[in-house]
Amino acid sequence: MLSLSEIFCSLQGESTFAGLPCVFVRLAGCNLSCAYCDTGYAARKSDGVEITLAEIVDRVAVYRVPLVEVTGGEPLLQGQTPELVRSLLDLGYTVLVETNGSLDISSLDLRAHLIVDVKTPGSGMVDSFHQPNLACLQPHHQIKFVLVDAADFFWSLDFIKQHLIFLAGKEIIFSPVVASFQPAELAGLILQHRVRVRLQLQLHTLLWPASERGR
Ligand code: SF4
Repeated sequence: MLSLSEIFCSLQGESTFAGLPCVFVRLAGCNLSCAYCDTGYAARKSDGVEITLAEIVDRVAVYRVPLVEVTGGEPLLQGQTPELVRSLLDLGYTVLVETNGSLDISSLDLRAHLIVDVKTPGSGMVDSFHQPNLACLQPHHQIKFVLVDAADFFWSLDFIKQHLIFLAGKEIIFSPVVASFQPAELAGLILQHRVRVRLQLQLHTLLWPASERGR
């Protein structure tokens, strides 16, 4: 059984797949508590409903969309998540898994497109990253830094430099928390420092700013 917060269809908004229709499977429960978290309603496993893997697959199929994202909360907190991801891949879906980076990703099927966060100081969770994950990253995996301010930008540059052996050639996403870090300021810093990262704005917050969930 898995604890499910919600399943819904929306536009993918926080990766190189941004803008594509996508079915989101949001699992309940998270081991972190980020300052900017917008999914507090899925913070505890008890916030979700118990559901079987087969029921999730059936509900995903209803939408007839080939792209599926398994997210949370933190999906790797649930023991059946690797099996869920593998099942979806075996059915022919393109599967994204969004993880906060604090747990071991090695149990996940390598065919999945992992979007792995590295938490910055502004998140309040800066020491959470599971360093061995770096060695598991594949060329199609993506690393995401959510930046609260310019200090987070410079911290992230240092992290990338320190771990360049693992991160060179990978897709690296810088996503600003727009309430505290203007996208134009981040764009200016990226250009000024000639950093090979992708500026990513959270699409759903631009399209549906008042929506709390299901988008
Ligand atoms: S890891 Fe994600 S779900 Fe968990 S607290 Fe941080 S932002 Fe929220």
